Amino acid sequence: MVEFERSPMFMTSIAGSLPKPGWLAESQKLWPQWKQQGQALQQAKADATLLWIKAQEDAGLDIIGDGEQARQHFVHGFLEQVDGIDFDNKVKMGIRNNRYDAMVPQVIGPLRLKGRVHAMEAQLLRAHTQRKTKFTLPGPMTIVDTVADRFYGEGKVGRVKMAMAFAELLNQEALALQADGIDIIQFDEPAFNVYMEDAADWGVQALERAAQGLTCTTAVHICYGYGIQANVDWKNTLGQEWRQYEKVFPALAKSRIHQVSLECWHSHVPMDLMALLAGKDVLVGVIDVAIEAVETPQEVADTIGRALQFVRKEHLFACTNCGMAPMGRETAQAKLKALVAGAALARERLAQH
Ligand SMILES: [Zn+2]
Repeated sequence: MVEFERSPMFMTSIAGSLPKPGWLAESQKLWPQWKQQGQALQQAKADATLLWIKAQEDAGLDIIGDGEQARQHFVHGFLEQVDGIDFDNKVKMGIRNNRYDAMVPQVIGPLRLKGRVHAMEAQLLRAHTQRKTKFTLPGPMTIVDTVADRFYGEGKVGRVKMAMAFAELLNQEALALQADGIDIIQFDEPAFNVYMEDAADWGVQALERAAQGLTCTTAVHICYGYGIQANVDWKNTLGQEWRQYEKVFPALAKSRIHQVSLECWHSHVPMDLMALLAGKDVLVGVIDVAIEAVETPQEVADTIGRALQFVRKEHLFACTNCGMAPMGRETAQAKLKALVAGAALARERLAQH
């Protein structure tokens, strides 16, 4: 791994997505319709990407992302560049163990990349910031849970086969992103928190296949989902202690993935579960993406302070709980600033000790 300098302490970044401007797509939706077409759409995607690179820099983030401005949804954006998928005939499917219904495309044949998926955004990102860059891709298990299968067959055998096929394609794109100069490649695996046994059994293995041969830093983001109502309702059924991470973290600790991005602030995740990730970088979620209220720097610094009981300071990064795609733009911008101010305050507090 190319070890990058961890400076300053508690480096700040977002989990991945940011709201799309109203001229690019519908606002505050998880699957928004684009407002442009053809070449104009390509230009609008590039413009929005540049806008958010600048906004993240202005907010003072240490690690900058593309804000996922060029993909309609974090999973389907990747799938659109895959041969063997029928996008014209989407079907309704319960996803994340039937937590909510989504219209999903169908796998109908052998999977193959049509070409580069994210070259435009990655190259824009690399060309327009001097800071560290992070780029996100969906993880294989989460893809398998967000697509209907008409090709690989029923049951676990089919699912694992399909996950490994997607992992190979993700690996191709990840290697290309690395060649574009991206510093951190992160795979998003919210499905790990839903199918914990499968995650430990084969999900982590598929993830490692996706990261095979990468020499840049690798990360996985595991959360309790975007701040949409279906997720808020689901969280209300999970009880006082959310112990999902406990089943998956030991397998991740043994894996070659370097960083784990997790949900923390306003969750019922027992903080001591972070100790299961000893040796890994932990991107602690200190910003709630499900509420409009903006965190104070004190709240952010307090969360970092509590996490320091279980994560060594050189391994602690400050992050958002999840993507901010469905939020209002002003709110997201204010939350970026709170993230940076909170990390700075946490550094000050540590220095005074
Ligand atoms: Zn998330």
